[in-house]
Amino acid sequence: MGKRIVGFWNLLTRLRPTGCRGESILILLPSCLQNSECRQKITNSVEECTGCGRCKTSAIIELARRYGCHVAVATGGRLAMELAKQDQIRAIVAVACEKELQQGLKGVFPKPALGIINIRPNGPCKDTDVNLEEIEKAINYFIRKR
Ligand code: SF4
Repeated sequence: MGKRIVGFWNLLTRLRPTGCRGESILILLPSCLQNSECRQKITNSVEECTGCGRCKTSAIIELARRYGCHVAVATGGRLAMELAKQDQIRAIVAVACEKELQQGLKGVFPKPALGIINIRPNGPCKDTDVNLEEIEKAINYFIRKR
């Protein structure tokens, strides 16, 4: 059910004119993507990530740099929404579980947002993962629509 609702919000984004530059895109990551043994304070700033590669965070930061996108790690839905509502942000690529995405995508509307459901090999909220290709596709979707 959650997956279908995320699909519905993604479809709504795709039906509207949504193009923008990389610098106007925010990639929002859930804090559970960070390796549970990592002590870096990446919720303050993703610049805290040392790039050790134990989780996908470093690869996503690298990807974002290539496209000039912003990246932030949100500790909760409310913070994620505050970040997404900043004026300079015109499109959002959000990674989270179905439940968080349902609330988040609705919360940032009418800003265009594409939700990517995370992978949870260790159960919910711990050492989660995400498909990097899906993030890149979502970035390219917004950039190509310009
Ligand atoms: S890649 Fe970054 S966030 Fe992930 S474990 Fe290493 S330092 Fe921590």
